[in-house]
Amino acid sequence: MKKTKWMTGVLAASLLVSIPTPAALAGPVKWVNVNVNEEQDESLFNSENYDFMKFSQIGEKLEEIDKKSNRIKVEVRGTSSEGYPLYVVTIADPKSQGKFGKIQALRKQMFKNPEKAQDWIANNPDFKVPIMINGSIHGTEFVGSDAVIQLIERFALENDEETKEILENNILIFNVVQNPDGRVDATRFNGEGIDLNRDFITQSQPETRETVELLTEWNPMVFLDTHGYVSGYGPNLEGLIEPCTPPHNPNYEYDLYQKWAYGQAEAMESEILADKVSYDGNQYKEMKGVYIPQRDDADGWDDYPPIFTPMYAMYHGAYGHTLESPTNDEDGVRWMYNAIMGALKYATDNKQEMITDQIEMFKRGIQFDHPYHDEGHFPNAYILPVDEKDPTVTEKAVNHLLFNDIEVVQAAKSFTAGGKQYEKGTYIVPMNQAKAGLANTMLWDGEDISNDTPSMYDISAWSLPELWGFEANPVQEEVNVVSSKVNKVDGQGAVSGKGPFLIPNSSVKAVELANTLLNEGVTVLRDAEGNFYANAKANEVSAAVKASGLEIGTAKVPADAEVLQSMKVAILKDGGINKAQSHAGTKLALKRLGFDVTEVTPVEVAEQGLSGFDVFVYSGTETLITTSTNRAGNKEFILQSQAQLDALKQNIDSFLADGGKYLAVGAGASIATEKLGLTDNTVKTAGYNSNGIVKVDYSGEGLTAAYGQDDFGFVYRPTWYEVAGNDEVAASIDDSENFFLAGHWANNNIAQGQPVIVKEEDKDVTLIGLEAGFRDHTDYLFRLLSNSIFTK
Ligand SMILES: [Zn+2]
Repeated sequence: MKKTKWMTGVLAASLLVSIPTPAALAGPVKWVNVNVNEEQDESLFNSENYDFMKFSQIGEKLEEIDKKSNRIKVEVRGTSSEGYPLYVVTIADPKSQGKFGKIQALRKQMFKNPEKAQDWIANNPDFKVPIMINGSIHGTEFVGSDAVIQLIERFALENDEETKEILENNILIFNVVQNPDGRVDATRFNGEGIDLNRDFITQSQPETRETVELLTEWNPMVFLDTHGYVSGYGPNLEGLIEPCTPPHNPNYEYDLYQKWAYGQAEAMESEILADKVSYDGNQYKEMKGVYIPQRDDADGWDDYPPIFTPMYAMYHGAYGHTLESPTNDEDGVRWMYNAIMGALKYATDNKQEMITDQIEMFKRGIQFDHPYHDEGHFPNAYILPVDEKDPTVTEKAVNHLLFNDIEVVQAAKSFTAGGKQYEKGTYIVPMNQAKAGLANTMLWDGEDISNDTPSMYDISAWSLPELWGFEANPVQEEVNVVSSKVNKVDGQGAVSGKGPFLIPNSSVKAVELANTLLNEGVTVLRDAEGNFYANAKANEVSAAVKASGLEIGTAKVPADAEVLQSMKVAILKDGGINKAQSHAGTKLALKRLGFDVTEVTPVEVAEQGLSGFDVFVYSGTETLITTSTNRAGNKEFILQSQAQLDALKQNIDSFLADGGKYLAVGAGASIATEKLGLTDNTVKTAGYNSNGIVKVDYSGEGLTAAYGQDDFGFVYRPTWYEVAGNDEVAASIDDSENFFLAGHWANNNIAQGQPVIVKEEDKDVTLIGLEAGFRDHTDYLFRLLSNSIFTK
């Protein structure tokens, strides 16, 4: 009996919840003031408008609730890209609040001994499960955080039976406003222009990383992501609640998810319908249900790419759902509140079976036993060899895997696996681990699903090895080598010799190092292969080299190497056409390469020209250079008149005449370049919903230095060129039927062998059809940008 009691107190909770380690920012909550004059009241992209809770009011509101309740913990877990606080509220009954410290130490039990955990649950129904609710990841979808605030208020303060029962069974974690920048600015994206709900594989933004930390600390059983606005996807169906249509990502243990997610969705629907009388709008009064993609459609709303928050959460064992409220008004808030209440009740009623299946997912991983996968779908391990001179990409990948709760070990000796010899220090990702599915979805090559479904909602391929540029070799056999667990790679670089120093054109970090030294006034030269030479003493470069992570040595500067100038880059800014900043990925890529980058709007280019810049980059929608739009929200981001369009053209022409360099990246920019009369080539594009990884033949010099034949490229709304005259063709889609490696692109044979990077013969205009800076994800292709900028 004694033992049981101890388990109720400590192990009970330890198996099911984990309490976050106090983050650097934990402690007294910092209330950061928002300049309320800059805070937007509405978005022109929303068809309704209401008095939603402004971000500036949320901190105070939480403080006020905190004072009145002993069930609530309010924290600031980091800051957004514009510096606003990321509020996290944890609500649990006061008895649990006191036990958080002990629980924390034992949280990993669920992964270490899943069978024991399942047994324990079967015999001890008195436990609490963590449920996480994410507020308004898209800034214009205001109702999410408003519903979250109402729920926080209820669970912190109310004492009705329903509230008490839910708190007896659950711990509620609210990520109150996942995108403060977006709520303040009334934009979908964060301050860097990134759609955070596309960032969960890349994790380039602080808001995304904060959420990943919460997920890996809690491993919530249920994850609800609040969005808007979806109305009338079926007759009298209001709003949308996942689960999704096919295709499903094959790395999930989907049978376990499916078993509960569908029932939970219907429970949310029932809760909404049961409160129908409380709604004001006619569409709500007449609703017959909610659109549940899996029930109500065959395709079109899939959960294939885990770039979305709930899909990513599924890889941590959560029953993840996107909830799309119907309208941006008080009814919309009510719908969201009801949906979440439905999920909480369902989870309370079924927690024992649901948590048993969550643990089952981890058990399958640990035991390397996947009953619904073909033999060999999951390799035995991935082997990540390290390039001694430039380990930066592999090290970034290893730190990324570790951050995502994926186990990585390092070989203590050299060894052979899959017929290949590997050195001591090679990283190994063993696939008999709790989160094997997540490891696989990050490290696999992906698959061509063009024939599986008519079209996909978003991207269909994201392979980290191929798109970040590191080796990760799957092996089916057992790997026999003494190894040790890796906790973090610190990745410091080092200089040897007296100089001049060779910086290979081998990674983003390498180019960033060359740019850093250039900006510090060091003489940097570049040879035909794109390698850099720093003409300096060791002590003049050592700090920058150390920070870069590269191992730099002395080399002779080739006779053909040319002295570089620090380049000032202007990028055409998309302020938010159709709720996206289409230039944001390329902007971040250029910054990470170490360039001095300035965003210029189309109106600014028209009114002020491009003097003072060396390079003008256009990487965004062709709508940027249009003068009219039928969508009110777009108006402020485009040109205001034909006179402005004429001025923009003229200013770009004189920029080119004065020796400026023009670079177009992707479909929209290529089309715009054709419209501006800057290319005599014909731009060809495939559909917006086509994307994936392609095999590309690069010339390997100049614009495509350090890239080769049968190398990788990434396309999104794929683009290629019918070349006129004697333009330089620096890269073409591989001329084979099987050039499309992974993703979704129906009828792709039209692009086989076609040019994808070309440079005009008579002006300094380069067109890149590949997505060289896509959403800050395609690191491997970023050097196509630096090559183009540095090549004369
Ligand atoms: Zn959304």
